[in-house]
Amino acid sequence: MDNATPSGVRALLASRGVQPHKGLGQNFLIDKNILDKIATAAQIAPGEGVVEIGAGLGGLTKFLAPAARKVAAVEIDKKLIPLLEPLVDSYDNVILITGDILTLDWEREIFIYFEDPREKVVICANLPYYITSPIIFKILEHHDRVRQAVLMMQKEVADRLMARPGTSDYGLLTVMVSRKAKVAQVARVSRNCFYPVPDVDSTVVRLIPLDKPSVEVKQEAVFNKLVRAAFQARRKTMHNVLVMAGLAEREAAGDILVSLGIEPQRRGETLTVEEFACIANRLS
Ligand code: SAM
Repeated sequence: MDNATPSGVRALLASRGVQPHKGLGQNFLIDKNILDKIATAAQIAPGEGVVEIGAGLGGLTKFLAPAARKVAAVEIDKKLIPLLEPLVDSYDNVILITGDILTLDWEREIFIYFEDPREKVVICANLPYYITSPIIFKILEHHDRVRQAVLMMQKEVADRLMARPGTSDYGLLTVMVSRKAKVAQVARVSRNCFYPVPDVDSTVVRLIPLDKPSVEVKQEAVFNKLVRAAFQARRKTMHNVLVMAGLAEREAAGDILVSLGIEPQRRGETLTVEEFACIANRLS
């Protein structure tokens, strides 16, 4: 049965009486051009290892296996495992890991399959959308093990990742991720490329974790508190943000911003990552 056509996916699921699990983000890709595009965008070098998040019925796995030295395919849903196993068994370089990508110990339970502990891997996924942000932060946590990630996500989340200051999409996610990774769009994908059809369109994004943050901060906790406060109250001026977050007294807050060349009446949503870092460093 073809695991990347609507009829194939339906037949495969029906063969075990399984329904797609909406809560687990089970929208299977049924467009081979898109599957090929994701695998190609991953630029898998010969001999490189790949981690696939959410293998589902193996639609993407089939495109990754021939390109990679090894694929560690992670899938949480035990009901899908019997449907996935025959495919996995047909490749000698695919390992199936049953578990939750957010609670698995990546070092001990995933990277362990790639013999060299210094080896960087590629991550590929048609993500379960309900956990896109936590997965991105997990990838950034493991920046020393991940060369790049090619991820299908909800279009709106991709827009937030790539947003410019002063736009409505620019926010906490943009600032936190852009300090630690380079993000670029690979392709827009219509909702009609999935079965079942989701309520949203998608974007494939390339995320390259940086070895070092693009902007250094003295105290990560202060930077995080500042950025969170700025976007919790998007309409407040930076002057008010500093005061309300308890980061500075009213008079000092104004002086700090002016001394950094930042107009105190500006809203946080207009500040660049560098400007947030300057303020955080002055407060640290
Ligand atoms: N890779 C397949 C494809 O492209 O057709 C399936 C993608 S589907 C959007 C997302 C997959 O992630 C589902 O198979 C779902 O069961 C799995 N998944 C959901 N939450 C997960 C988690 N926390 N850890 C690992 N896999 C998860």
